[in-house]
Amino acid sequence: MNNNINVRPIHYACVSGGKDSLYMFYYILNNIEKYPLDMVVHYELEIDYPFIKNVIEKIKKICDKLSIKFISIKPRKSFNELYEKYGYPTRVARWCNGHYKMDCARQINEIIKSWGCRPLAYIGFCANEKKRFKYIIGDWINNDCCYPLAEENITEDKILEWAKQQPIFNNYYNFFNRCGCMGCPCATYKEFAYLFQYYPKEYKNIIDKIEETEKRFKFQYFKKPIGEMKKKFETKSLTISLF
Ligand code: SF4
Repeated sequence: MNNNINVRPIHYACVSGGKDSLYMFYYILNNIEKYPLDMVVHYELEIDYPFIKNVIEKIKKICDKLSIKFISIKPRKSFNELYEKYGYPTRVARWCNGHYKMDCARQINEIIKSWGCRPLAYIGFCANEKKRFKYIIGDWINNDCCYPLAEENITEDKILEWAKQQPIFNNYYNFFNRCGCMGCPCATYKEFAYLFQYYPKEYKNIIDKIEETEKRFKFQYFKKPIGEMKKKFETKSLTISLF
């Protein structure tokens, strides 16, 4: 969507803390004349994996060192507040996106507009993610977003190989290609197994919430009863395909 091009743009890198956004952040810093950077923005979610928090800490330190503005935005309603109201999000009732995560996007747009500027977000979509593009590659200057990785023809495979070598991701990309939130309703069973092995406290908290939601709304969250699922998550090896 084209913005009012007479209004000054604020170029900001949107960093989730996953592999693509970290790679994009480094890429932008090394190509600052092509991709001017006014600030870096992170949506701070309680359901981020702990390793994501470490990545964001690292990005923030670099921003501080280079005097780049860093903004962390929290949803106006906490995950727990929304959980109390709606129960744990399911595949069909994914309130975690619209009511929770995207509230951060609404806030950053409001902030930039209150400055009398227009937002231009750098987003870490790769060259092979054409289905997600909302502008024609090469034509981003007057748009409200830009995909630097796609602009540079950098593919997800290349970044994945790089991510596997980065200890900060805590092995996550040795098992998975992409990273959503912890306990995402769209997570695979293998992601629950990773959660159990690497972050048992967070795993227990999520499973407790799912069990509580099942009781409260009288339904079954997974295809099989939660007791059976827990056994699978907790006993299977991560290196073997679970299902
Ligand atoms: S990644 Fe999953 S948990 Fe996170 S906002 Fe999207 S649907 Fe919800």
